[in-house]
Amino acid sequence: MAYINGRWIETASQLEVINPATNEIIGKVPVVGKTETIEAIESAKEAFKSWKKTTFPERVYYLEKVVTLLREQHEEIAQLITKENGKPIGDSRDEVESGIAYIEWYAEEAKRIYGDVLPASSQNKHLIVKRQPIGVCAAITPWNFPFSMITRKIAPALATGCTVVLKPASATPLSAVKVFECFDKAGLPEGVINLVIGSAQEIGNEMTKSEDVRKISFTGSTAVGKLLFRDSADTVKAISMELGGHAPFIVFDDSDVNIAVEGILNTKFGNSGQTCVSTNRIYVQSGIAEKFTKALTKKVSKLKVGNGLDEDVDVGPIIDQKSFDKIMEQIEDVRDKKGKIICGGEQYANNTGGKFIQPTIITEANEKMLIATEETFGPVVPIFTFETEEEIIEKANHKHYGLAGYCYTSDLGRAFRVSEELEYGMIGVNDSSPFVIQAPFGGIKESGLGQEGGKYGLEGYLITKYISFNANY
Ligand code: ADP
Repeated sequence: MAYINGRWIETASQLEVINPATNEIIGKVPVVGKTETIEAIESAKEAFKSWKKTTFPERVYYLEKVVTLLREQHEEIAQLITKENGKPIGDSRDEVESGIAYIEWYAEEAKRIYGDVLPASSQNKHLIVKRQPIGVCAAITPWNFPFSMITRKIAPALATGCTVVLKPASATPLSAVKVFECFDKAGLPEGVINLVIGSAQEIGNEMTKSEDVRKISFTGSTAVGKLLFRDSADTVKAISMELGGHAPFIVFDDSDVNIAVEGILNTKFGNSGQTCVSTNRIYVQSGIAEKFTKALTKKVSKLKVGNGLDEDVDVGPIIDQKSFDKIMEQIEDVRDKKGKIICGGEQYANNTGGKFIQPTIITEANEKMLIATEETFGPVVPIFTFETEEEIIEKANHKHYGLAGYCYTSDLGRAFRVSEELEYGMIGVNDSSPFVIQAPFGGIKESGLGQEGGKYGLEGYLITKYISFNANY
C-alpha cells in the first residue's frame, strides 16, 4: 500500500499481516515497489518546494491537529500494536503515549530553530548562520516499536520543514497506516509525507540511490544499517541510524537487590525482550550474586506468558520463526557450553498458535557463549559474576555495540567513575527507564550515528548555511 501525494494507492499484490500470538491473519495490505517509491520521492521533492517555506505556526498547526486525532484513538492504536507486534497491551499503551509525545515535543521544538549572527572582521560585512531543512528524507522503521519509531522520525522532519517518504517494517504496517490516516485527516499538504509498504530491498534501494533523497533515517539491525550506509555513499546523504545493541546491566555489592531486580524485569522482560536497549548481559558482583539471582528467579518464574491482549500477560510472543530460532539457538549453545539454566529455557507450550519462549535465566555463563556477544531480542538473559570495578568496566564494554548500559550502585563516586568509562550512548545509573522524549536517544560504535529525541532530534534534519553580506555593494 502506498500513500503518495495525498492519495491512497491500491495494488493487486497483497501482504498478509499476522498476529504473532495466534498466527492469524489480521489484515491484508497491498504492496508497492520501485515505481511507487520513485513516485513517492518525486512527490516529496515537489512538496518540499513549498513546505520548506512555511512558517513554524503553519507546521505546528498540523502537528497539533495530529496529536488530537491520535489521542482520540489511543486505545484503538494500542490494541492494533499488540495485534500486529504481540507485545503486552500495557507496553503498547506506553508506546502510543510516547509516540504522541514525540509529535507534541516537536510541535514545540519547531519554534526554537535558531541561527547565529557572527561578529564580522570588516566593518561592511554581516555574517549570518541559518539552519534550513535538509530536504527529502527517507525513513525506514522496525517492527518492535511500530508506532513510536514512525512519529519519532516524521515529527522532527516536519517541524524543520523537511518532507518524508517512509517505509515501515512489513511485519507491522497497520500502525503506520493509522499514523498516515491521521495526517491525511489533518489536511497536511499533498506530498509532504508519503508511505510505501513493500519489499525492503526494492524500496530501500530506490531510496539510497536517489539524488533527491538527502537524508536516510533508519532504525533496525546493524547489518541492514551498514548496507544502507554503504549504498548512501555515492550520493553523500546525511545519515541517522539507531542500530543493534548489547546492553550490560551491572549490579554492585552495595546495590539494593529489589531495585536491581525490578530494573531487570523492566529492561529484559518489558516489550518481551524485543528492544535494542534490552539488557543482554547481567553482571553481578560476587558478594551479592546469590541473593540477587534468587530474588530475580523468584520474580521471573512468576511472569505470565501469553497473548498480549490479556491484561495480566507480562511477556508476549516472539515476532516470527526466524527470531524464535535465533533465540533457541542461543539457549542450545548455552547448554553445549555448560551454562546452567535455572529458570525457563524451553519453548512455552500454548495452544494459541504463536511462538513463545519461557522467560529464561542462565547462570555460570561464560564469554564464549553466543549470548555473551550476539543480540538476543527475547526474554532470555545470562548472569555473569565479577569481583572488581576495574574488571567489570573492561568486561561490560562491547567490541562492536554501544547503545545502552545500566549500572546499579549506592556509591556515588563509583556511579560517576563507571558511567564515565562505559562506552555506551545512553546509561541508566540506578535507572532502568532513562529513555524520555527530551533526552538524546542513540548509540556509539556500530550501534548507530546521530540522536533522536529532544532538541538533539532536530539536528539531523537541518543543514547549516552561512551567508556573508557585504553591505558596501
Ligand atoms: P529486524 O531484524 O529488527 O527486522 P531489520 O534491519 O531487518 O531489523 O529491519 C528494520 C527495517 O529495515 C524494516 O523496515 C525492514 O523492512 C527494513 N529493511 C530490511 N532490509 C532492508 C534493506 N535491504 N533495505 C532497506 N530496508 C531494509
